[in-house]
Amino acid sequence: MNSSTFSFKEKTQLLLKYLEVNPYHYKSIIDCTPDIVFVIDIEGRIIKPNRAFEKLSGYSSEELTQMTLQNLMGSKQADKFLHHFQLALKGSLENFDCSIIHSNQNRVALNFTHFPVVVGSEILGVYGVGKDITGIMHSRKGLDEKEFLYQLLTSNSLGMITSTDSDGNFIYFSPAFLRILGYTPDELLGTTSFGLIHIEDFEKARKNLTHLLNKKESGFDTYRVRKKNGGYIWVECICKPLIDSNTNHVKEIISVIRDISERKKAEEDIRNSEARYRNIIEHTPDAIIVVKDSIIVYTNDTSLELLGATTKDELQNKSVFDFLHNEYIASAQRRIHQLKNGQTVDFKDYKIYRLDGNILEVEVKPVITVFQNEPAIHLIIRDISKKIQTQQLLVQSEKLTVAGQLAAGIAHEIRNPLTAIKGFLQLMEAKLTDYKTYFDIITSEMERIEIILSELLTLAKPQDMKFVKGDIVQILENVKTLIDTQALMNNIEIITLYETNIFSIFCDENQLKQVFINFLKNSIEAMPKGGKISVELQSLGFDKLKLLFIDEGRGIPDHILNRIYEPFFTTKETGTGLGLMISKQIIENHNGTLHIRSDKKGTIVEVILPIF
Ligand code: ADP
Ligand code: MG
Repeated sequence: MNSSTFSFKEKTQLLLKYLEVNPYHYKSIIDCTPDIVFVIDIEGRIIKPNRAFEKLSGYSSEELTQMTLQNLMGSKQADKFLHHFQLALKGSLENFDCSIIHSNQNRVALNFTHFPVVVGSEILGVYGVGKDITGIMHSRKGLDEKEFLYQLLTSNSLGMITSTDSDGNFIYFSPAFLRILGYTPDELLGTTSFGLIHIEDFEKARKNLTHLLNKKESGFDTYRVRKKNGGYIWVECICKPLIDSNTNHVKEIISVIRDISERKKAEEDIRNSEARYRNIIEHTPDAIIVVKDSIIVYTNDTSLELLGATTKDELQNKSVFDFLHNEYIASAQRRIHQLKNGQTVDFKDYKIYRLDGNILEVEVKPVITVFQNEPAIHLIIRDISKKIQTQQLLVQSEKLTVAGQLAAGIAHEIRNPLTAIKGFLQLMEAKLTDYKTYFDIITSEMERIEIILSELLTLAKPQDMKFVKGDIVQILENVKTLIDTQALMNNIEIITLYETNIFSIFCDENQLKQVFINFLKNSIEAMPKGGKISVELQSLGFDKLKLLFIDEGRGIPDHILNRIYEPFFTTKETGTGLGLMISKQIIENHNGTLHIRSDKKGTIVEVILPIF
């Protein structure tokens, strides 16, 4: 209102005085009219209600003067009234409909006219005249009742309710809306609901409005809404357009809004913890499978590899029992049962099928977990085939060590009596001159035995790799001596073909011997009917030599050829399957290469080594 020299109270008193002094202004017109006539002061207090007012409202004049417009109309209608009141103060004197609440709680519709009470240059209040239009409104009675109900519901509701016009301008907001967001009505009146919506949700809200203006209801949408303190809350909102029956256009949009920040936060927390869980699981070296009622719902990359799948889809929604070897199903079910009874269950060995049908040995530990808010079982699966192989390797190398030690022991034991025999033989040779040829043979055989014994001794001695300059021909000859007896027993002849006699190499002699013995033994074992093994030595360029072991054995079929270097791969009943694996390693340690070619006529082992 205009700047004034009077306080509100003073203005009211002045108004009263004025009416006393000028009673005809009021009294005569008022008392006989069926319309309500009253004056309200600029704070909305009812002053001087007429009789019609008493009749239409059901309150006495005294009661009415104790009331404000808000009491009498309800806040929404009072707002409307005050809005027009403001307009009237500015000189706009349009009629408008507004309803009051009768003391019997029925609404009475009135058409109001009002104009300011101006004394001098002071605006002191407003004259109001309200025409009873309940009759006219009769056809709209249902609507009014609804409006009343709506009023009653919204202002007392703990929920947030707003109404906006078709541009989004606020018309009404429930107390809860103001309270939760922290605004006062003044701060929101004259603004649009879009002003409160988070920029990222703006587009969604715009689309929703278009949808509503097409007279369709919205579904539940979620938005971030700005609070007065600058923060945002998440709300869920359902909107309904109200259609003006005259224009058939949307005149108002009612939104029922719910604060879902708590729910959003809980969802966020779950998402975060799920993301953390996934992150850990994706990076663990164990295979992890999550199952719900034995159906696979999640797999990490390691488990794909383990089961031989290329994509997660190949495993998703299959039963874990499809992968489990029949023998183990009962045990697995028992363990799941124990787990569900709250017991913890440790790793246990199982056999499972990979997708390619191969069987894999694994150990499995199930743990109770929650997956996507539902109880599930988290399976930790580890491939133990390597572990089993290592165990076997240990056992095997233990055996070999024992055998080696035994051999060394025996060699030692034989050497002593051999020295004695040799001594007596020399004594006898001196006397029995007729048998010289026999003695020569015996002596040479004895020397062979001695060589073999010393070879055995050096081989058995566990040694670190010791690289020295060595003579390849000498090494081959030593190996030949060692293996010849076995060859002869199998009706096999070992032929050597050396291109030259001078090939120095930098090597660990014992290890190379071990390699060559291995090749020759493999050849012998492949030739049960006897035959010929040739060992050929050639130069290759200036700096390498090529060594070939060529046998006439049964050969190696193609499907076996690419597995012969695998540890423990053997086709023999008493084989170790370690020979070629170790040989390849030793040759590579000597900067050499190993190639094996084979067909039905026999096998060629080719070794290339650098010359010293
Ligand atoms: P093992 O001799 O203990 O079986 P190896 O690693 O020495 O182990 O050999 C692996 C396999 O390769 C043998 O079981 C055999 O089937 C095949 N193999 C190796 N050398 C030959 C060969 N000269 N002739 C035929 N088969 C061979
Ligand atoms: Mg072998």
